[in-house]
Amino acid sequence: MNIRDEAVLRELNLYPLWVRRNAPAPLEQIEVQATSVAQAEVAVVQTPAELPGIVNPAAEKNAESVSRPNARSAESDWPALKQQVRDCTACKLRATCTQTVFGVGDENAEWLFVGEGPGADEDAQGEPFVGQAGKLLDNMLAAIKLKRTSRVYIANVVKCRPPNNRTPEADEIAQCLPYLQRQIELIKPKLIVALGKTAATALLGHDATLGSLRGRVHDYRGIPLIITYHPAYLLRSPAEKAKAWQDLCLAVTTHSA
Ligand code: SF4
Repeated sequence: MNIRDEAVLRELNLYPLWVRRNAPAPLEQIEVQATSVAQAEVAVVQTPAELPGIVNPAAEKNAESVSRPNARSAESDWPALKQQVRDCTACKLRATCTQTVFGVGDENAEWLFVGEGPGADEDAQGEPFVGQAGKLLDNMLAAIKLKRTSRVYIANVVKCRPPNNRTPEADEIAQCLPYLQRQIELIKPKLIVALGKTAATALLGHDATLGSLRGRVHDYRGIPLIITYHPAYLLRSPAEKAKAWQDLCLAVTTHSA
């Protein structure tokens, strides 16, 4: 492990740790030393088949209840879709935001991370997950050997900042979701990670507590979907970082399966 790795895991409250000597793929073999109550919750990474509560993707009814891409995005290629989002005034969020925040990353990414919506920093810079929450997300990515510029795409459910960072309302999500759905169709990711309840609910098409959705593999139109906490929540509740680490480990094993 290099100094950067240590820094990342310290940021996630997951250091010190050790790696099995003969492990060919360190991340998949990580055991976290239980030096605190939170860390004690982190176990050896399991394969999806070993994890309790895994949902059979074919059996889980979710994506069909999500609203379909509407006419403004259903057939769009990347340039057209970006232009449509730039020009969009379909909901009231556009009246109060500075600019739309489309998404960032590798347009052929294997990994798609989906958040809720832009905050103040994102609204100002036009990029998702900048500022403190973005820094934590970058560290979470680094902990599983990823970075936002390679093999990763990052997007939000709504592309315009809700006033005072409130949760997007149902009509706003309904209007904006087709853009995310089209992004997913174009990217064709191998795995989706929903960051927070808003993203999970939008992608699953039904409401549930985030705690009840974690720890198993869901399905979004044939794509494995992992659900974890939003980085902004983890900044407010650092004890939950250990659970987020569990979720990331599940994502890695699912991606590798
Ligand atoms: Fe359009 Fe989405 Fe912005 Fe609403 S949040 S105006 S639907 S881009």
